[in-house]
Amino acid sequence: MTAAVPDTTILALTDSLPLTCTRSGTCCHGKMVWLNPWELACLAAAKGLASRVFRDRHCEFGGIRLRFDSPPGWKGLAACSQYVPDCGCSVHAGRPLVCRLYPLGRKRRGKELLYIHQGSGFPCLDGCPQVVNLPHLTVADYLAGQDVTAGVAAQDEYLELLQRLADGAFALLLESGLAESGDRLTLRLWRDLGKDSPEHLEKRIGPDWIDRLMLPDVAEELDDPAAFCRLHYDMLQSQAQASFGKLGDFAALREASGLMMGLALHLGRGLGANPAELAEHWIVTAKKLGARD
Ligand code: SF4
Repeated sequence: MTAAVPDTTILALTDSLPLTCTRSGTCCHGKMVWLNPWELACLAAAKGLASRVFRDRHCEFGGIRLRFDSPPGWKGLAACSQYVPDCGCSVHAGRPLVCRLYPLGRKRRGKELLYIHQGSGFPCLDGCPQVVNLPHLTVADYLAGQDVTAGVAAQDEYLELLQRLADGAFALLLESGLAESGDRLTLRLWRDLGKDSPEHLEKRIGPDWIDRLMLPDVAEELDDPAAFCRLHYDMLQSQAQASFGKLGDFAALREASGLMMGLALHLGRGLGANPAELAEHWIVTAKKLGARD
């Protein structure tokens, strides 16, 4: 293993409480909800749609972010694609971790795990000042009430998968003779990929690999995020082996390393990592191991 644990933050971006027809859903407006592949599958199941159909209708960048394209509501801000005006979340049972956590966010810094909220003031007070009348809870009690266990497990499993994808990029550079050849272009490619917009990175990865990354055919394991993620990784690994296992020339190896890195960075964005920082971090690691830029 050469890729280090990335720092990630999924911040309190949407409402996590059960939305009923009496709720305002103010925090389902004007936010960004990033997704991992398991969350995408859960949303699709809650909507009664195939993951691909849900992704194409309701997500951006190949499935790593929910669209916010419902009519503007609170403060004139665009609402989440899953928000029904004057009613609430239409996918409550399958809502993503970030929605369950709100107003908390989950920040992983190395091995440290923090629950935080955005800004210096309590985020709910702006849209829902009546929250001050709710019972006071510990963070642990709040999380227990939001049923976050599976979502937290999926988030952590996909962090591991992200590192394995990056390991693939390292192996194609460091164990193929490419780095030893004096190559300087691969790390520059990694850096470019880290700076790419999500739209452009999706295009560079291409539809086949985007589908492999975001639409794994393992829906039967939805209740078990660890099994879901494990099977997903097995599929990605066997496809990578079939596609890149016998590459001979350096240009093809560089391209393959870039693809694996692009997949890791795209997934990382969906997990709350900063792709540019992630790429730089891995470039530093690769240089310590003999690569050059
Ligand atoms: S998925 Fe549901 S809870 Fe989350 S932002 Fe969208 S409407 Fe709100």
